Amino acid sequence: MSDQSLAPRPVLTPLTKPFWDGAAEGKLVIQRCRVCAHFNHPPFVECTNCRSSDLGYEAVSGRGAIHQRAIVETPLAIPFDDLPYACLLVELDEQKHLLVAGNLVNASPYEARVGRKVEVVFETQPDGFVLPQFQLAADEAAA
Ligand SMILES: [Zn+2]
Repeated sequence: MSDQSLAPRPVLTPLTKPFWDGAAEGKLVIQRCRVCAHFNHPPFVECTNCRSSDLGYEAVSGRGAIHQRAIVETPLAIPFDDLPYACLLVELDEQKHLLVAGNLVNASPYEARVGRKVEVVFETQPDGFVLPQFQLAADEAAA
């Protein structure tokens, strides 16, 4: 049985805090360049497209497609022992190669196949910490 109270939490920095604050409000918030409008994720000190340091944050749709996935069937570390589960890299609809990590929820991990459409959902942990996760998009779940 998984004990999520033992799960490590991210250390918030000025760069990453807007992402986690957004999750706590039910929004997927991604860093965006104010000069060229490029999204950067993970957030970085300068735009990965034009190198500007004029960066802001904005909420995105949370919709995308599975770009890569790994299905974990063997316990790797406590408390991530609620097996099996699927780790995803999701390419968001907003921009090619804009990848966000999360697990597939509300479906068998074996439903995680490259190219399937997913949407973000927010999973509140027992300690109140909110994790962005992904579920199959409505049209995929019906397929
Ligand atoms: Zn830029």
